[in-house]
Amino acid sequence: MERTFLMVKPDGVQRGLIGEIVHRFERKGFTLVAAKLMMVPKEKAEAHYAEHHGRPYYDDLMSFITSGPVFAMVWEGDQVIALSRIMMGKTNTLEAQPGTIRGDYAVHTNRNLIHGSDSPENAVREMAIFFEPHELV
Ligand code: ATP
Ligand code: MG
Repeated sequence: MERTFLMVKPDGVQRGLIGEIVHRFERKGFTLVAAKLMMVPKEKAEAHYAEHHGRPYYDDLMSFITSGPVFAMVWEGDQVIALSRIMMGKTNTLEAQPGTIRGDYAVHTNRNLIHGSDSPENAVREMAIFFEPHELV
């Protein structure tokens, strides 16, 4: 059984979409194993998005992700890493299909509602940034 790190970003929290997003993963058949509403400290934001350091959108990404509370989660299920990426929709909102979270609710690539780990290695790395082992049920 696989685990992944998902996070409703500040725009999703502000727009009242936590319930809608959680609902989709519950109905899909995945199991929630940890969740918390939190402000992301600067150091955690930098660690989380380390691979984007130096990109033209990096500073905006940092200020956005630390701009308000996020809803951090760990979900469990078969192929949850790849399947949750499909449910989220593409990063570029012009490519995010209707029926996906970004396709249904997001207009801008830099305000795209949800984060999901893109590999097993990043899932382990990101879970450790946001959660202590004892917080996972
Ligand atoms: P996330 O990692 O947040 O789940 P993702 O995996 O779909 O999103 P990444 O390529 O990892 O996309 O980019 C991380 C985040 O950086 C994106 O969600 C987006 O907010 C921002 N980003 C990436 N590429 C661009 C871009 N070309 N213009 C603006 N923002 C971008
Ligand atoms: Mg990513």
